[in-house]
Amino acid sequence: MLRVGGCAEHYVAVRTANDLAGHAIQAQRSGLRTTILGWGSNVVPADDGVPGLVIHNLATRIEITATEGGGQGLVLAESGCSFQELFLRSAQAGLRGLEFAVGIPGTLGGALVSNAGAYRSNVSEFLTALEIAVDGERRWVDPSWMEFAYRDSILRRPNPPACAIVQVRMALPKGDPKRIYDEAREYQRQRIAKQPPQSSVGSFFKNVNDHGLAERLAGLPEGLRRAGVVPAGFLIERAGLGGHRVGGASLSRRHANFIVNDRGATASDVRRLAEHAQWRVWETFGVLIEEEALYLGDWSGWDGRDAPVPDSKA
Ligand SMILES: Cc1cc2nc3c(=O)[nH]c(=O)nc-3n(C[C@H](O)[C@H](O)[C@H](O)COP(=O)(O)OP(=O)(O)OC[C@H]3O[C@@H](n4cnc5c(N)ncnc54)[C@H](O)[C@@H]3O)c2cc1C
Repeated sequence: MLRVGGCAEHYVAVRTANDLAGHAIQAQRSGLRTTILGWGSNVVPADDGVPGLVIHNLATRIEITATEGGGQGLVLAESGCSFQELFLRSAQAGLRGLEFAVGIPGTLGGALVSNAGAYRSNVSEFLTALEIAVDGERRWVDPSWMEFAYRDSILRRPNPPACAIVQVRMALPKGDPKRIYDEAREYQRQRIAKQPPQSSVGSFFKNVNDHGLAERLAGLPEGLRRAGVVPAGFLIERAGLGGHRVGGASLSRRHANFIVNDRGATASDVRRLAEHAQWRVWETFGVLIEEEALYLGDWSGWDGRDAPVPDSKA
């Protein structure tokens, strides 16, 4: 969490799926602008705050049952459960697949909105159905409704449907408990080694999938070149921005794709720095890096840009 930004205009905390759906549906029917908030680990709320209703999702129930043959487990989880807790509970039930969730702070709902992932896995892989509150109704939908892509879903696009993810069904395969914990421990070790400890949203920008660019860049590790993946941090570093600061926010020297709040930053500091990095990467490589973090609230009057960067979300 970046620990920046203003307050919610209206705020309610919900502790059950029924409460979440009830408040979301009521707000949708009355046309009230609504934001569902998980742990806030992937958002930059505007300094002026977030207009409308913020529903803080504290609905955390998780149920795991074995299938008849025993080859897999079925998960029913409320969207406010911790994604890491979901991994732990499924690992305790001898189920594999969510090892990558270790070290991803936040709720299952927040993870689904951005199709969170790491180490070549992502949360949408194991999903079998979602219950959503949309258009003033509550209904179960197929995962295809979410239009998942790399760190993306329909709920991140411009003018997304007003929708709350209420609860989720997943199917996870049985695994060897020792391998599950060993793998999770190894991922955790790698994260501790590379992630800056200060407040952040994790990676601020998405990595770039571009074989041509990967071929052109000297010094890119061979595995990434072959896969055609260029880490945003690599581009920011090469644009000479490691450690660059705006106000209380800086691009971490440890991992240049992390904007950290190390000196009492405002949301405007963070956005100005992010747009500067975007502009410098564009100027240097002709590549637009797209935010993985989400801006919340009303930024319509924002004009902090150093220079015009093509808007990928136009
Ligand atoms: C140190 C650190 C490391 C990280 N590492 C990773 C990583 O490896 N991989 C990765 O993918 N991400 C990573 N992240 C980003 C973040 O942890 C994930 O995106 C996380 O899943 C967000 O969950 P949240 O509950 O905090 O969501 P929030 O930040 O609260 O919300 C994110 C968005 O989802 C919406 N939303 C949340 N819940 C719901 C719901 N129930 N229904 C509808 N909309 C909803 C919100 O309105 C908002 O637009 C990292 C973050 C940090 C701080």
